[in-house]
Amino acid sequence: MLQQTQVKTVIPYFNRFTKKIKTLESLSKSSEKQILKLWEGLGYYRRARNLLASAKLLVNHFNSKLPYTIEEVKKLPGVGEYTANALLGLIHNQPKIAIDGNVKRVFARLLNKKKEKIKFEKLILLNKKKLFNTNRNSDFVEALMEFGALICKPKDPKCGACCLNRSCKYFKSYKKIITKEKKMIKDVNYDIFCYLNSNKQIALTKENKISFLKNFNLPEMKETKKKIKDKGWKFLKNYKNSISNLKLNINVYYRFSNKKPSNYNWFFLKNNKEFIPSFTKKIFKQVSILF
Ligand code: SF4
Repeated sequence: MLQQTQVKTVIPYFNRFTKKIKTLESLSKSSEKQILKLWEGLGYYRRARNLLASAKLLVNHFNSKLPYTIEEVKKLPGVGEYTANALLGLIHNQPKIAIDGNVKRVFARLLNKKKEKIKFEKLILLNKKKLFNTNRNSDFVEALMEFGALICKPKDPKCGACCLNRSCKYFKSYKKIITKEKKMIKDVNYDIFCYLNSNKQIALTKENKISFLKNFNLPEMKETKKKIKDKGWKFLKNYKNSISNLKLNINVYYRFSNKKPSNYNWFFLKNNKEFIPSFTKKIFKQVSILF
């Protein structure tokens, strides 16, 4: 849940989720619909699907235990190098470091070097005796994450209070190398085409190729650069939406019709019992002004 999402946003979702689903076994037996409903509003729904698929795999093939090798852990859906290292460290107390932006910044500051100039895996391997000189590897993984978030922060690191300041080259140096936190933002234009009917319903399909909402309910959506000339579609409005590193510029078109394409289903704009991603709900809000 914490991937790309702030702790304060996650807390109510996490509490609701763990109140309903208390064990790995019960998670593995849950339906996708149930999990997505609990996740509704948190976004990045692929995480929910991956979590469910991973729970099934762990229960059915690994005796409900996390495997012990990185190769096997990385077979879990949605688990890459970073998460696999974090899990092995946190759960099996293995000597691992989960290298994310925070950890890279901490090392870059300790060495007062640009992040791009550091080969992190090599650095960790060369210093493994010093780094893992502890039985508390699990705490070490957690501590590094917290240290990057709370002490060696992206802006205004708390060097005065830092226990590493005597050996930190950034702190001691007059010429401090500033580590820039770059977020690559991509602008994308989309046209969205909504079939609406007089029952205040909208036609949605799961057969879409939109990377951030693949196989979730959406109206027809196309990345575009040109103005629509099809007279059957009326322009409703333009609005902006941001998802991860995408800045979306969206044009909404609509047509009233009791017919819809065969692979679409009608959904009520209000009081829908189905799981609807937040992105789609925003489209509901735009077209609701027509009723
Ligand atoms: S002294 Fe400052 S820059 Fe160095 S590790 Fe500590 S908080 Fe980071």
